[in-house]
Amino acid sequence: MDVRVRFAPSPTGYLHVGGLRTALYNYLFAKKHGGKCILRIEDTDRTRLVDNATENLISNLRWAGIEFDESLENGGEFGPYIQSERFDLYTKYGKELLEKDLAYYAFDTSDELAEMRDRLQKEGGSFKYDRNKMRNSVTIGMDEAKKLIDAGENYVIRMKVPEEGEVKFKDIIRGEVTVPCKDVDDQILLKSDGYPTYHLANVVDDHFMQISHVIRGEEWLPSTPKHVLLYQFFGWDTPDFAHLPLLLNEKKAKLSKRHGDVAVEDFKAKGYLKDAFVNFIALLGWNPTGDREIYTMQEFIDLFDLSKVNKAGAVFDLKKLAWMNQQYLKELNTSEAIPMLKAELKKFGVSDLEDDYIAQIFDLFKERVTFINEIPEMTDYLYAEPKEFEEKYMAKRWKENTAELVKPLIAKLATLNEFTHDSTHDITKVHCEDEGVKMGELMHPLRLMLTGKSAGAGMFDTMALIGKEECMKRFESFLSKKESGEL
Ligand code: GLU
Repeated sequence: MDVRVRFAPSPTGYLHVGGLRTALYNYLFAKKHGGKCILRIEDTDRTRLVDNATENLISNLRWAGIEFDESLENGGEFGPYIQSERFDLYTKYGKELLEKDLAYYAFDTSDELAEMRDRLQKEGGSFKYDRNKMRNSVTIGMDEAKKLIDAGENYVIRMKVPEEGEVKFKDIIRGEVTVPCKDVDDQILLKSDGYPTYHLANVVDDHFMQISHVIRGEEWLPSTPKHVLLYQFFGWDTPDFAHLPLLLNEKKAKLSKRHGDVAVEDFKAKGYLKDAFVNFIALLGWNPTGDREIYTMQEFIDLFDLSKVNKAGAVFDLKKLAWMNQQYLKELNTSEAIPMLKAELKKFGVSDLEDDYIAQIFDLFKERVTFINEIPEMTDYLYAEPKEFEEKYMAKRWKENTAELVKPLIAKLATLNEFTHDSTHDITKVHCEDEGVKMGELMHPLRLMLTGKSAGAGMFDTMALIGKEECMKRFESFLSKKESGEL
C-alpha cells in the first residue's frame, strides 16, 4: 500500500503547537515509509475565515522545516488542495447519500433544536439529534420534505446513523475502538447554506486524495465513528487512524490560548531556535529511544513509529523547552548565529559592528543565555560606557582603599601593546603575585568600572572585547567620578 498522509488544518489565523506536532508526525511517518505528505486546507467553515490565515499556516510550517509533496503551492494530481474549491464534490456525495436513503433532509429551526436539547437533558439522555421526533424527511416523508424545500424552507442534510449495531475501527495508538451506533449522532453533512461540514468534506477528500493513514489530534477521536460510517455508506475503504495524545499545560489541563501562548509564531517571536523547537515538539507524546532528548530530523524519521506514541496526554513543559533551546544555542554554528545576533543588536540600536566582533560576543555569551535576544541588553556595556552601576555590587566591591589598589594594575595594563585575553591575564597575574593580592579582589572592581554589572563573561575576555583605549577611558572616568563624589 502506498503511504499517503495529510495535514488538514483549518485556517483559523495561527498554527497551534498541537497542529505543528500533527503536521510533524505526518511528515515523519511519510518520510519513514517513503510515502507522500499532503497539505490540505480545510476552510469549509466560512464563518471562521481569517485574512491571510492560509499564508500564515504555510509560512509557519515552512519555518519548522516541514515540506509537503502535494499542496496548494506545490500542486499535485489530487488537487485542488483547498476545500473551498472542491464544493461541488461534497454536494454531489451528500446528494448520493440522500438517494441511497443514508441521509435525510431536516428542517428544524434553532428554537426547535434548543427545545429538543432541553427535553433530552431533562430525560437524562444523550444530546444526539432525536431523528424520530423532529421535523425531517424521515418523519414527514420525502414528498412533504420536497414541498417544503420548493417553498423555500431552510434545511440541512443529516447522515442516517443505523439504530442498531456498532462501529468498529482500529486506531494504531489506541487499539480497537468500538462505539455503539446508538451513541453516534446524525451528523449534519450539508449545512443550510449548502456548505459541507468538516465531517463530509474530510471523508470525501481523504477518499479522493487516496489517504492511507489519518494521523490527527485526539480531539477528533469522537468524530471518527461518524467518519467510519460515512466510508461504509459510500462503499469506500477506510483509512487507518492514529489519534495523537492531547497537549496539556503544566497543570495537566488542555493547552489553550487562554492560559498562554499556543501559536507557533509566538514561540518564534520569543526567539526559540527552529531546530530546538521542532525537537521539543517531536517529543510531545513519543521518545524514539527513551535515553536522550536531542535528535536530528533524520533520526526522528528513521526511528518514527506510530505504535510507540503514548495514549496519555503530553505535557508542554516550558522549562524543558527553555533547556532545549539552550542545548541548541550552545551548539549553534557561529556563522548561523551572526545574522541572528546582528538582527537583535539592530533592534537594540547597535548596527555598526563587524561580523567578527559579533561572533566573539556570541561565543562568549551563548552559554549564559536561553535566547539570543537576551544578549544585547546583557552586553550593553560592550557598545557604550555604562551609565548605571549596580548599587549592591558597588557597595560590596568598592571600598575605601579600592581606588589605590587598582591604580597600579591599571597603569600596567596601559603599557600593553596587545590587549588580548592572554596579555591582560598574564600581566594581572604577575601583578597580583608581586603585590600579594588575590585576583578576585582586583577583578571585581575592574568589572564594576568597565561594565557596571556583577555578571558577565570572563573579565579578560571582556577587556579584550572593549579594547584598550575604551577600557582606559572608562577607568579614568570612573575614578574621577569617585574622587569628585559623583559616584
Ligand atoms: N480541519 C481539521 C482541523 O482543523 C482537521 C482534522 C483532521 O485531521 O481530520 O484540525
